[in-house]
Amino acid sequence: MKNVVINKNSEIAPGIYSISFKRDFDFIPGQVVKITTDDSVAPRMYSIASGAADPDIQLIYDIKPEGQLTNLLKSLRAGDKLLVSAPIGNFICKEGKAWWIATGTGIAPFYSMFRSGRKKDITLLHGIRKPENAFFRDELNALDGYYPCCSGKQTDGMFKGRVTDFLMHCETIPTDASFYLCGSAEMVVDVRDLLIERKVPFGNIYSEIYF
Ligand SMILES: Cc1cc2nc3c(=O)[nH]c(=O)nc-3n(C[C@H](O)[C@H](O)[C@H](O)COP(=O)(O)OP(=O)(O)OC[C@H]3O[C@@H](n4cnc5c(N)ncnc54)[C@H](O)[C@@H]3O)c2cc1C
Repeated sequence: MKNVVINKNSEIAPGIYSISFKRDFDFIPGQVVKITTDDSVAPRMYSIASGAADPDIQLIYDIKPEGQLTNLLKSLRAGDKLLVSAPIGNFICKEGKAWWIATGTGIAPFYSMFRSGRKKDITLLHGIRKPENAFFRDELNALDGYYPCCSGKQTDGMFKGRVTDFLMHCETIPTDASFYLCGSAEMVVDVRDLLIERKVPFGNIYSEIYF
């Protein structure tokens, strides 16, 4: 782990923060870094949200009630230090048709892939509770297949319901696409079961669970 200097740490939606620092390493979109504030706190993993060529590394995190690290992170300011590991992980999107399915901050690896140039043959479902949590919406609208799924309030331009409801409403789900699921364990398990029921081969489903 090495020290980096924070450029920016700000709330981008209620309870959701974006923290960034200068990039001095290469990574593959979909990878994560471990971070912590100091040696007394065990590091936690965060997906890199920025693009592979962006000058900064951006991470997004939501504040967990009584969460040890996230409650420390939110009070950090530009100029403060953060301990960061080298990038790790193999949640990497293959070439070809892909469906990206996320809940909450689980959008991070997909935003990184998008910012790194993956736009063709992509369907992206983003499960959120409130419309203001569709962060990156303006940019992601450039994808033909971008569907924010809001389980809370009915909102223009958003599917009303969970990502699982969206999938249940799909007349066809391509069985030859790769499916990448990222976020809560509950979503990953429910979506995986639903895809298997819809004849998607198990080997076409990849997941990253935020625990
Ligand atoms: C591969 C991977 C990638 C990830 N990427 C991201 C990301 O991009 N963005 C993101 O926001 N998160 C991500 N996570 C989750 C992240 O690593 C942290 O787990 C999360 O931010 C919580 O950290 P924390 O220290 O604040 O909470 P913790 O202190 O770890 O606590 C988590 C929750 O458990 C509860 N808890 C703690 N101790 C106990 C106990 N003894 N009994 C009962 N409940 C308890 C807390 O109240 C809290 O709600 C990722 C996880 C993985 C595995």
